[in-house]
Amino acid sequence: MNLILFGPPGAGKGTQAKRLVDGRSYVQLSTGDMLRAAKASGSELGKRVAAIMDAGTLVSDAIVIELIEDAIARHSGAPGFIFDGFPRTLAQAEALDSMLAARGEAIDLVISLEADKEAVLTRIVKRFAESGRADDNPESFKVRYAQYERDTLPLLPVYGAQGKVVAIDGMASMDAVSAAVSTAIDSPPRSR
Ligand code: AMP
Repeated sequence: MNLILFGPPGAGKGTQAKRLVDGRSYVQLSTGDMLRAAKASGSELGKRVAAIMDAGTLVSDAIVIELIEDAIARHSGAPGFIFDGFPRTLAQAEALDSMLAARGEAIDLVISLEADKEAVLTRIVKRFAESGRADDNPESFKVRYAQYERDTLPLLPVYGAQGKVVAIDGMASMDAVSAAVSTAIDSPPRSR
């Protein structure tokens, strides 16, 4: 089972991915977490992406595709992957399809966590106060949200046309969202 947790910044993708890792033995692949780790380590890559991330714009496709490629190779025996924050562009989605096809696999399910802009902004402001994550300030959030609408949201109809999307109310309680995610995994929509 390979699934994508899809949704705007602040929709709860990371939280739900971590719950799935705890509940099932899937491997979470979060490009945001990988890039934050690179930034924190002060590596060459981290230095290259720090300003881009803080501004809320997208790191290049080549960088994130390579991160995902390496991570998939490192977890070759994984029973499933949860893609969190990836793919964010059509080029990334196409690269992901090719990587999975090389393993004889595909994306089975796209869980779309639905949340409106005002609600996620309120969440992000709270997260900023709690975690101090640099790109959670309202200015960066606006850029991230606009980037999401422009580059990432158009992927949804692509996966929708493949019959892979299940929409879930991302503003429900964490437990209610987890329960809906589990149901979607246990009875995924029929893919073509
Ligand atoms: P996230 O934690 O998923 O919200 O990602 C935090 C930041 O990392 C984003 O605002 C981007 O700057 C960068 N990033 C994470 N994933 C990607 C991706 N798939 N493509 C491009 N940039 C990304």
